[in-house]
Amino acid sequence: MIKGAQLYEGKAKKVYATEDPELLIVSYKDDATAFNGLKHGTISGKGVINNRMSNALMRLLEQQGIPTHFVQELSERETLVRKVNIVPLEVIVRNLSAGSFSKRYGVEEGIPFKEPTVEFSYKNDALGDPLLNDSHALALGLATREELNQIRQYALEINRLLREFWLSCGVTLVDFKLEFGRPADGSIILADEISPDTCRLWDSATGEKLDKDRFRRDLGGVEDAYQEVMARLERRFGSSC
Ligand code: ADP
Ligand code: UDP
Repeated sequence: MIKGAQLYEGKAKKVYATEDPELLIVSYKDDATAFNGLKHGTISGKGVINNRMSNALMRLLEQQGIPTHFVQELSERETLVRKVNIVPLEVIVRNLSAGSFSKRYGVEEGIPFKEPTVEFSYKNDALGDPLLNDSHALALGLATREELNQIRQYALEINRLLREFWLSCGVTLVDFKLEFGRPADGSIILADEISPDTCRLWDSATGEKLDKDRFRRDLGGVEDAYQEVMARLERRFGSSC
């Protein structure tokens, strides 16, 4: 597949056209940002890990009946994906309290929930990705009621599958962010990425943070944490993943 014009450069990835109007190439960078772009840095080797991890997890989800944008891994940093019209929602699923949930509701981090929560934020950097509910999303015309129901159903099923997978690697899936989109046929599929940039992953035995919070909170050992979760995933899948 020939890489065409660069269409977009985001905070963590570049997006390129291909000769097929329904396919894109995404290229994962080592750049890291936090706090809506206020904090910048580099996590050496992150792009390679996020590309490979996201693809392995999307393949796993596909095998379990979740439609995703994944088509083919092209190189260590580049992947061919189905082009979608992104639904401008950050879909966040939580199993334990952490991050903005703990801050907003004044609870300590690490409290397990009886049932997972699903919440939507409006994907809009200029507004700081404000939290919204279904009626707000409908009022803004971001998605239809049917699409919101489908997205919530996929999000909970993805959580069930990923939580079980990570547990088998000795990792607790605390929370994560998903993005969905509409390919040319108008259906809803999972897009973007699933990686330590977009998930909170804690060592199940020690509670050690193995994700981007090490960067956000200046905890040190950022590269080592990304490598550690990737190594656990590879051991689980076999290194061919
Ligand atoms: P951001 O835009 O938040 O800085 P990235 O650096 O990850 O994020 O950029 C990747 C962009 O590509 C995101 O805006 C994401 O919504 C979008 N994207 C992800 N998957 C697809 C896809 N399959 N088709 C079209 N756009 C996609
Ligand atoms: N998240 C993300 N991108 C965002 C916001 C959140 O990938 O723009 C992920 C984040 O890594 C975490 C989950 O979504 O796994 C929940 O994040 P939270 O709402 O607690 O926000 P944060 O504390 O990261 O600001």
